[in-house]
Amino acid sequence: MNQKEEKEQILVTRASLPPFEEYEELIRSIWESRWLTNMGCFHEELREKLREYLQVSGTELFVNGHMALEMVLQAFELQGEVITTPFSFASTTHAIVRNGLKPVFCDIREEDATLDPECLEALITKDTAAILPVHVYGNVCAAERIQEIADAHGLKVIYDAAHAFGETLEKRESDGTLRRVGVGTLGDASMFSFHATKVFNTIEGGAVTWARPESAFLEDRLYKLKNFGITGKERVEYVGGNGKMNEFCAAMGLCNLRHVEDWIRARRQITERYRENLKGVSGIRFLEPRKDVDSNYAYMPVLFTGGKTVRDRVYDRLCAEGIFPRKYFYPCINAYDCYRDLCDAEETPVAKNISESVLTLPIYPELPLETVDRICELLTCNQ
Ligand SMILES: *Cc1c(COP(=O)(O)O)cnc(C)c1O
Repeated sequence: MNQKEEKEQILVTRASLPPFEEYEELIRSIWESRWLTNMGCFHEELREKLREYLQVSGTELFVNGHMALEMVLQAFELQGEVITTPFSFASTTHAIVRNGLKPVFCDIREEDATLDPECLEALITKDTAAILPVHVYGNVCAAERIQEIADAHGLKVIYDAAHAFGETLEKRESDGTLRRVGVGTLGDASMFSFHATKVFNTIEGGAVTWARPESAFLEDRLYKLKNFGITGKERVEYVGGNGKMNEFCAAMGLCNLRHVEDWIRARRQITERYRENLKGVSGIRFLEPRKDVDSNYAYMPVLFTGGKTVRDRVYDRLCAEGIFPRKYFYPCINAYDCYRDLCDAEETPVAKNISESVLTLPIYPELPLETVDRICELLTCNQ
């Protein structure tokens, strides 16, 4: 078989890039300035542009989303337990444990796979310090209810918003009026990931954002933590690390930011096509995110009501056709080898069930609608 005849492989995602010349033009100045990293002008420009785009009051950039999460947890100087969801990427729980904190796993909601606030209170102990929910697939959490519970118990709320870039939702003000706010304004702080596979990328990168006045201290604290805890020419005050975003990554971010709205529009079309094609197909169900959210269409999860056997069979058949969806997230974090001694995955049955019945289907801005149709046909006849 020569290359032409070989079937094209359709992967679950494909990194978005700006036209090469755009990036080339921007990075040319780096050869003059020789300023490659350590909060250069692209870093500062991207930080400001993202603060506006994400509609938050503060933001700090990082080398990746995971370091952003580790360092924001460190910045709050938490001790004890952090309640989180087992239905997420490894990073969420690892960031807790690598801060010397104990993760406590809370089950998720059937309808959108986000942390279930109804299960929260039973998990709160005298040692609970914070809640770390995830806007999984860009499905925004029941943030109002989570905040009520957190406030009643004096807990911090830090969101893993790695999937939720650019999303907005409705907020009811104390005078009753509704206002649209950036998802990164929720809780005490939020973490975004700009990894190559995300809706918006800086090759590798991440950010912490906040809106509450009480979180304003993060600006100074995070800046120092990501630069080894150095606070002066001859002074080191914190046990920090290296979390800095370099100029090449920041420049990529500046280019990609010009295109991200077009990309989200294309993702929306693809999502609508999938939903239209698969609507009413027996054995398949969708998650139903909150209606007040302006989505970024980051992922295309479908659930097989026949469970793991059906899901795995469909997965294998799609792969045989050169289409590679992901079992994302399977297994749940509380079933990982490294956390097995800490918890029992049976205690979060909804998360276990969703992880065993979900496939995330290919979605990226250039994915042709005809390919979406072909994938849907395979899904419909292969169950
Ligand atoms: C991608 C991701 C992360 C980690 O982000 P990186 O930028 O890859 O370090 C954390 N949490 C979730 C839910 C993610 O999807």
